[in-house]
Amino acid sequence: MVTIGIYINSPYLSDKGKLMIRAYTITSGKGGVGKTTLTVNLGISLAQLERETYILDADIGMANMGLILGMDDVPVTLHEVLAGKADIEDSIYVGPSGVKVIPSGISLQGFQQADPDKLRDVMRKLVDRCEYLLIDAPSGISKEGVVPLSVADQVILVVNPELASMADALKTKILCEVMGGKVYGAILNRAGAEHTEIRSQSVEDVLGVNVIDVVPEDASVRRAAAYKSPCVIKYPQAPATRAFRRIAAKMAGAEYEEDTGKAHDEGFVDRLARAVFR
Ligand code: ADP
Ligand code: MG
Repeated sequence: MVTIGIYINSPYLSDKGKLMIRAYTITSGKGGVGKTTLTVNLGISLAQLERETYILDADIGMANMGLILGMDDVPVTLHEVLAGKADIEDSIYVGPSGVKVIPSGISLQGFQQADPDKLRDVMRKLVDRCEYLLIDAPSGISKEGVVPLSVADQVILVVNPELASMADALKTKILCEVMGGKVYGAILNRAGAEHTEIRSQSVEDVLGVNVIDVVPEDASVRRAAAYKSPCVIKYPQAPATRAFRRIAAKMAGAEYEEDTGKAHDEGFVDRLARAVFR
């Protein structure tokens, strides 16, 4: 392990060194930009930094956190809690590196019975017991998307380097401000290798928010998803993993340590996956 960056002067540390910002809502204008991927990988990275971290799948209509964690068949989900049929305690599962996971159900019926207004209470209960709560929110402008925007301490906008993603993110940012939420910044996900700086600058110009960091386009993310295992666990040295860990360190006000260990020996299935998800 080699330390290559230090973020101990986080502006989010109070005088007592206790973190003030705890609940982050991760949202976007457009769907499919990487909200769930970021929520899961940042949550695990925070847990690896020994921060008590909960990740909540509040994208109750298009839930897929359970899928990428291999928790898609758990008995109680956020759907049952929001339908008043189960207690929040029963919907909390332990995920990789000890991160606590509250998955959402994937059935349409479960979605129809879930009352998004109950999310407020769920979030308050969770925030009392953890250091970090990361909320995977629905994209765009929807009834169930409004609560996570207004209740979180800070909102993170996920954008891809394309015009549609940025235009829609701008609407979400405006909605967030109307709802009284605060935008912590944007994460530019799936960035190409070239012109990254220019793209970050364009995001800042268009959205009027700071770009927290850039996550590269990395086939390891999709390959890991195919194994139902998050990228930071399955591919600890992948470029996207480095970005996830660096962002988590910034959020935690911790030192960022790059895992410079040698790549693990690749088995046949890994080589096959690499060929398929190139
Ligand atoms: P959302 O939750 O915003 O709908 P997801 O997290 O489900 O988006 O990601 C959408 C797709 O993009 C998934 O197939 C995921 O594996 C892929 N993806 C996300 N981030 C990256 C990345 N940095 N590099 C490559 N693929 C990515
Ligand atoms: Mg999602």
